[in-house]
Amino acid sequence: MTFNKKTSWIKLIPVMMLITLLSFPEVIGMGWGENGHKTVTHLAVDATPEPLRSMLLKTLNELEEASMDPDRRKSEPGTSEESKRHYIDIDFFEAFPFGAFPQDLNMAEAKYGRIEIHRQGIVPWAIDESFQNLVEAWETNDPNWVRWFGDLAHYVGDLHQPMHTTANFDGQKSGNRGIHALFESVMVDGFWKAEQITYFRPPDAMWQAVGHFMPRGIGSLVSFTSAYMTDLMILQNFEPVDNALEEAFLIVADTYTMLEPLLAAHDKAQEFRQTNPKFYSTFWDEGADKVMERQLNKGAYTLARYLMGAWLKAGQPSL
Ligand SMILES: [Zn+2]
Repeated sequence: MTFNKKTSWIKLIPVMMLITLLSFPEVIGMGWGENGHKTVTHLAVDATPEPLRSMLLKTLNELEEASMDPDRRKSEPGTSEESKRHYIDIDFFEAFPFGAFPQDLNMAEAKYGRIEIHRQGIVPWAIDESFQNLVEAWETNDPNWVRWFGDLAHYVGDLHQPMHTTANFDGQKSGNRGIHALFESVMVDGFWKAEQITYFRPPDAMWQAVGHFMPRGIGSLVSFTSAYMTDLMILQNFEPVDNALEEAFLIVADTYTMLEPLLAAHDKAQEFRQTNPKFYSTFWDEGADKVMERQLNKGAYTLARYLMGAWLKAGQPSL
């Protein structure tokens, strides 16, 4: 070991954080940790078209805080169902791409059993419920809309964490135990860099967005005059979410495709011991960085689409 003292200390920070995390097993399964959730919420608000964006920016700090509340609720008494609302171990029931899995909760319970459905997680329905509640709160000028905003932001964020879509949620079935907290907390806190914020940019169908918006008459067309808006709508094909539940199941299948690269990166990292900084840098460089960049950016972009969809359904209220 010849690296200087300062470097070695910095490189050991993730190791120390991991040891801290492993001392508190209930931390596993939180989904992105505080920094990840706040990042997704902040980026989502930023990616939301005007005039919604400006209205949400007024209470950005409050909204970021609210996005952490579902995890805080997990430890409150009488909230045993809360912990089930953050994930879905969908491969417990069906194989990718999960076409045979019923999206209707009653039908899913009838097919696989109510207890099993809840045991394996219900995040798609938690997203749908939060979305409907947010629409209703905005429709009725309920000042408590922040609660539903926070829930929606949290569950959409969690569903972009690949380890929240599988029965192999901590890599325990594939020899990758510990990968869950390593990815969502240690990597976010120690390796994620601001320059990885790119926003998710779907590559095709540029003009479809304009066609989608125009017939719906989104407020005044003032929005179209801002370069920001035009860039978002044309370059990113910004499409507000219409069916919240259907969208959630699209996310499930998409997020699931990121499991394989993540596990492969972890396999390479495991050539080193967890006390060796190379364990962490290898996991990051061999795939965790790309997966995280894609998932945090896409999570934010998708959340922005949900927010815009809810706001349109609520009749475009002033907030
Ligand atoms: Zn969570």
